[in-house]
Amino acid sequence: MTNSWGIPDWLEKKVRDRDKFCVYCHIELKEHLDIKGTPKDKATFEHLTNENLPLEDNIVMCCGSCNSSRGAKELLDWFNSDYCKKKNINKETVAEIIKKYMEEK
Ligand SMILES: [Zn+2]
Repeated sequence: MTNSWGIPDWLEKKVRDRDKFCVYCHIELKEHLDIKGTPKDKATFEHLTNENLPLEDNIVMCCGSCNSSRGAKELLDWFNSDYCKKKNINKETVAEIIKKYMEEK
C-alpha cells in the first residue's frame, strides 16, 4: 500500500512519528483531513534527494507554507528568500534531519 504521495504506509508512519513539527519553521503540524486546499500548518511531505542517506531520511514533513514557498528551489537558494529571512529559517535553525541532509550532500 502506498499513499497519494507514493510513499509506503510503513514509511509514512515512521516519518509522521518523527516529524511532528515543520522541519523548517517548527510550527506544529496538523493533518486537516477535513479541509480542502492547504492551510499553512497542514502537514505535507517534502522529498529530499540524497542517495547517500536511507530512504526514510529523504522524506520529511513540513508545513504547507514552507512547502509552497520552497517549491523546487535548492535549500540554500530558498534560505536566501524573503520568506526564510522573515521566519529566520536557515541552515542553523532547521531540524536536525535537514542539517544531516545538508552535511551529507
Ligand atoms: Zn514550515
